[in-house]
Amino acid sequence: MLSNVKTVLVSLSLFAALASGALPAVRNRAPLAGSRYYPLPLTSVKPKGWLLDQLRLQAGAITGHLDEIWPDVGPQSAWLGGSGEGWERGPYYLDGLLPIAYLLDDAALQAKARKWIEWTLNNQRPDGGIGPVKNEDWWPDFIMLKVLTQYQEATGDARVIPMMRKFFAYQAKMLDQRKLYQWAVFRWHDEVLSILWLYNRTGDAWLIDLAKKVHAQGHSWQNQFANYPYTAKTSRQDATLSTHGVNNAMALKAAPLWSLVTNSASDRAGLAGMLAKLDKYHGLPNGMFSADEHYAGPDPSQGIELCAVVEAMFSLELATGILGEAPLVDRLEKIAYNALPGTMSPDLWSHQYDQQPNQVLCTLSQRRWTTNGPESNLFGLEPNFGCCTANLHQGWPKFTSHLWMATPDDGLAVSAYAPSQVQTVVRGGVEVTVDEETEYPFRDSVRLTVRPAKAVTFPLEVRIPVWAEGAEVKVNGATVANVKVGTFHRIERQWAPGDRVDLRFPMRVRAVNGFNDSVSIERGPLVYSLKVGEQWHKLKATGPVTDWEVYPVSPWNYALKIDRSAPEAAFSVEERPVPKQPFSLEGAPVILKGTGRRLTDWRIVDDSAGTLPASPVTSKLPEETLTLVPYGAARLRITSFPVLAK
Ligand SMILES: [Zn+2]
Repeated sequence: MLSNVKTVLVSLSLFAALASGALPAVRNRAPLAGSRYYPLPLTSVKPKGWLLDQLRLQAGAITGHLDEIWPDVGPQSAWLGGSGEGWERGPYYLDGLLPIAYLLDDAALQAKARKWIEWTLNNQRPDGGIGPVKNEDWWPDFIMLKVLTQYQEATGDARVIPMMRKFFAYQAKMLDQRKLYQWAVFRWHDEVLSILWLYNRTGDAWLIDLAKKVHAQGHSWQNQFANYPYTAKTSRQDATLSTHGVNNAMALKAAPLWSLVTNSASDRAGLAGMLAKLDKYHGLPNGMFSADEHYAGPDPSQGIELCAVVEAMFSLELATGILGEAPLVDRLEKIAYNALPGTMSPDLWSHQYDQQPNQVLCTLSQRRWTTNGPESNLFGLEPNFGCCTANLHQGWPKFTSHLWMATPDDGLAVSAYAPSQVQTVVRGGVEVTVDEETEYPFRDSVRLTVRPAKAVTFPLEVRIPVWAEGAEVKVNGATVANVKVGTFHRIERQWAPGDRVDLRFPMRVRAVNGFNDSVSIERGPLVYSLKVGEQWHKLKATGPVTDWEVYPVSPWNYALKIDRSAPEAAFSVEERPVPKQPFSLEGAPVILKGTGRRLTDWRIVDDSAGTLPASPVTSKLPEETLTLVPYGAARLRITSFPVLAK
């Protein structure tokens, strides 16, 4: 009886919420373990400020026009009933096109995305199968299911849940004879995600059994990382799907997601163990691990693929919700604010397949990649291989939709910081909007203005970055005590319309040790790289997309003069206005000035910066003033610096 009353109340508040457009988060159902936080439905969080500019720029460039330029996602796609590409590329494109279309309230982009959704919904086969008939691989279905969950959240379309139910029933029946193979084996978690999403909405117990079956046919990432044999750069003959960068980036979500089914401490600890190994043996200073296309060791001249960047971001966004560990968000911000923009041209038309933290020449040339080809670090339409062309679109929109999360007790939590507005439902079904005004990550302060429909008590949890020693939290001007870095700080009180939370995260220059005792420079969530003069050389054009080589027109082979224990003394900080495209050399909103000397023996080898000279190093050349810009603003750069001997 009690539970019936509760159901009615929940339904009533849901109905009230629906009338105004705000929706509550959907919680995990027993027997699933609880998550520390829950994702809000797509469109609860809207981009503002520079983030809105970034999404608009992306929508006006490659994302809004790819279908007009690139046949793989054009009108002949088999995912639209045509005779063209019928594997992962259509679903990959939609996985970014759909959320950006709804986040921007862009009717034209929504219409583009809807064509694919309608075809998929209207062409489910009687047996439950979805997608092009010619496709017999489960993997592309996994991606389309992720797309459908986002679409259902944005629109409430009543056809989605019955369709997914029918598909999973079909898969449950088929899986013994048509097992997961190849990619799907290593990406099982990307389907378990949608199975659990559906379970939380329907309560069908057989879905948990299906999740277990999919898991049982999948690769054990837990075993791979418990006995990790991949401690050096992968040789061509050792390259497998286990050492594949994108598989590993997707798999960052595997253990946290599976912990919801098992409720086991070892699954909850799985991600930390995985990141520790990746950092130790393949860590790069941009928050990623190297993989070009397989694990490539810690040399900052090795690369990481754009697909791995956006997939790692999405995995961390999900993992943060499940585990509630604030340092995961520091990692997410490091990747989103550095590795993501740093591998796209500033106009967001062209991208790289592989980016290098020490990237001094982008040309058609066979570099020392593990297995990738000579186009891999060009900026273009589909350098090396077209997966990133299809998959890059999800980066910024999914980052946006995960900036805010629900707490299990009907409150709100802010995860990564960026200008935004969240509209949702909190305790008692009260609707609340929070405006987040900030120029973070380029500035250190964030203002949250809370606007509940009426005064209401609920918890608001704010993440305190790991690096923000001395962080200040003020509620209506009064300082909050006991704020600890690397945590979510909980403020539970009655919130009245117009209440303000002011956050300040002191951004000190930090020196991070890396490969061959080099140093990389960070300040707040941004990584800083040597500014290198760039000359962009056009190779070819495909419609509005140009393929570019980039040549250096200023020296790059500098060692830094820095005392690692007092890095702040080595730099002056200059702030400039935040323009529409802050991730560009001309637009860089923060510049660091330091000192260094050139190392004449550090030269280009095999068209990349040669092996980093082991620090400390000496140079007889004169001291020069060095300009460092945010990594994401520099397409040529040195990020790992040798250090001058004292
Ligand atoms: Zn790719």
